[in-house]
Amino acid sequence: MKTFCGRANPTTGAMEWLEEDENYDYHQEIARSRYADMLHDKDRNVKYYQGIRAAVSRVKERGEKAIVLDIGTGTGLLSMMAASAGADFCYAVEVFKPMANAAVKIVEKNGFRDKIKVINKHSTEVTVGPDGDMQCRANILVTELFDTELIGEGALPTYEHAHKYLVQEGCEAVPHRATVYVQLVESKRMWSWNKLFPVHVEAEDGEKIIVSPSEMEDCPGVPSVCDIQLNQMPSSDFTILSDVVTMFSVDFSKPVRSASTSYRVQLEPVKSGKAQIVLSWWDIDMDPSGMINCTMAPYWVKSTSAFQWRDHWMQCVYFLPNEEPVLQGEKVYLTACRDEYSVWYKLQKARGEEENKAAVRVESPVCRCQAHLLWNRPRFGQLNDENRTRQYIKSLTKVLQTDSVCLCISDGSLLPVLAHCLGAKQVQYFLFDKDSMLLFFFLKFFKANNLEDKIKIIEARPELLTSSHLEDKKISVLVGEPFFTTSLLPWHNLYFWYARTAVTSHLTSSVTVLPQSASLHMMIVEFQDLWRIRSPCGTCEGFDVQTMDDMIKNSLNFRESKEAEPHPLWEYPCKSLSDPQEVLTFDFRKTVPEYSLSTEGSVNLLRKGKSHGAVLWMEYHLAADISVNTGLMQISNEKGNCEWNPHCKQAVYFFSSVIESETLSDLPSAVTYAINFNTKTGEIAMDFKL
Ligand code: SAH
Repeated sequence: MKTFCGRANPTTGAMEWLEEDENYDYHQEIARSRYADMLHDKDRNVKYYQGIRAAVSRVKERGEKAIVLDIGTGTGLLSMMAASAGADFCYAVEVFKPMANAAVKIVEKNGFRDKIKVINKHSTEVTVGPDGDMQCRANILVTELFDTELIGEGALPTYEHAHKYLVQEGCEAVPHRATVYVQLVESKRMWSWNKLFPVHVEAEDGEKIIVSPSEMEDCPGVPSVCDIQLNQMPSSDFTILSDVVTMFSVDFSKPVRSASTSYRVQLEPVKSGKAQIVLSWWDIDMDPSGMINCTMAPYWVKSTSAFQWRDHWMQCVYFLPNEEPVLQGEKVYLTACRDEYSVWYKLQKARGEEENKAAVRVESPVCRCQAHLLWNRPRFGQLNDENRTRQYIKSLTKVLQTDSVCLCISDGSLLPVLAHCLGAKQVQYFLFDKDSMLLFFFLKFFKANNLEDKIKIIEARPELLTSSHLEDKKISVLVGEPFFTTSLLPWHNLYFWYARTAVTSHLTSSVTVLPQSASLHMMIVEFQDLWRIRSPCGTCEGFDVQTMDDMIKNSLNFRESKEAEPHPLWEYPCKSLSDPQEVLTFDFRKTVPEYSLSTEGSVNLLRKGKSHGAVLWMEYHLAADISVNTGLMQISNEKGNCEWNPHCKQAVYFFSSVIESETLSDLPSAVTYAINFNTKTGEIAMDFKL
């Protein structure tokens, strides 16, 4: 059987539906899944085990049989813990078929076949009764259905259903309770992921300021959670305005209601400032006493000794609809609203209690300004990056003439507006094959800057561009950032090169292309933690989970074993083991060649450490001596700690075997590589030998 998978073609920028083997989807899911990361999460595993042991004992002490329901069993880990702790029987429910199959194998291998029944169903389909999936209702409910936002993976409706139909009243639950914490902060850095700041442009005829349409001011944005490794956010990047407070908690041992609701707390700011951001995380108590606690609290809240790195649970950043000045000691109300799957926040100045209550409506935020649909959070950050903008301004100033006919090819770019501020009179804006909602945003944006009749939006794909679109003019300056929303890996933005090739007949013979070229860079690194997500576990808390390792390995090898994956490396510390090396260049002044671009070579390993993989990124050469780097910003000390561009994802290629060198002398002194850019597909294949 075949299935169709959507993928953006990096040579056309368009979504294409590719016919794939029916197993493709699930191999992707397994290969890129968080199962390995969860199994490496020692703190989580140990606490679940303690909580499960305690729950089984409590039931046994009451003289009852311990019947466990484990919803979302994955590898079967929590059921095996329960069986080892003396549970009489476990029902292990798993909806994802390949995982349910793996659980069956793992349970068998560990000798729990008689104690654990794997049920390959969604929990809401599970039946209870003599002929049902479960003989009787369970008296211990074990789950791990939480995401960074706690409820985003549907924990609440699953619990609600389980209490109604699958477990006994008064059952024990592991975890017993979850609590969500919040802290109010001011942070220019994080706020820059949510609003476009005014852009100051120093032009020959004075300073100009590019502003956003007024709708953006109090737009609540999009409801999707912003989950990050908050521990990588230095304390200098935000100001704490309130203490940490408990926002709400859920007792999993009692019936759970998933229907939309709101919670309100009173905050007394510890400092005056602009309330912009609510930082949030949760913890789970594995037992009723709260003695077995697993917390996601960031570094400034918990002691570093309690620190466990994990990527499957991080912390949340919530943006208030607009920034609100608060005064130290002057009380404010913070409201958390939630539906079944997501949470959002509102802040109100303390007025009459009742008045405030009435004002709280539980409506999921909807972006009213369209900008949040056009730009995602890293993209907002990128557009607000003053240093980056300065490079574009400098290079545009160099290449633009008053009579330049300028065409911009990039998604949601401000370059045409910059070009106009810098004196280019004839700016064409190129926006093709995109949602008309976004077109609507740009019209408002141009209007807010009195540019509505100065910049023209062409709704055509590059290969369909005609002279009439351009009013029979030839383009003298072709610009791009380049940035495209469909790009997954850094080199997918080379779509700019393909688009440039497609519009060649409309360019003057002396056209200036900005950026004039791009280069691909590569470096060998040792990750502090990220290696865990692709590293085999072997055993987990004494249970053999190698079947899972094999399954992940098999999925990684299923199609292209030689694939890099995108990660925002500012969130994942690593140190460089080699110097960064330029490996390929792409000349945008020429068209895309027919032949592939390949390179081979070797990089010397300069530091001792574990070579976990190679990181690759792009640099764009805007004009002579002016570049924009989307990857390594600097190596900050002699240990090799790296600083990465905070707005971009870099490509990470994990080596299948890790080389470890304790001393420089037993290092393989170099890593050899072969990298091939296939100009037909726009993809890069690579191979490394250690
Ligand atoms: N319990 C395992 C795996 C947790 S991951 C462990 O702790 O290591 C969560 C798993 O739950 C996923 O495999 C997902 O497919 C499954 N899942 C989520 N909701 C479910 C539901 N309502 N019914 C059955 N399986 C579910």
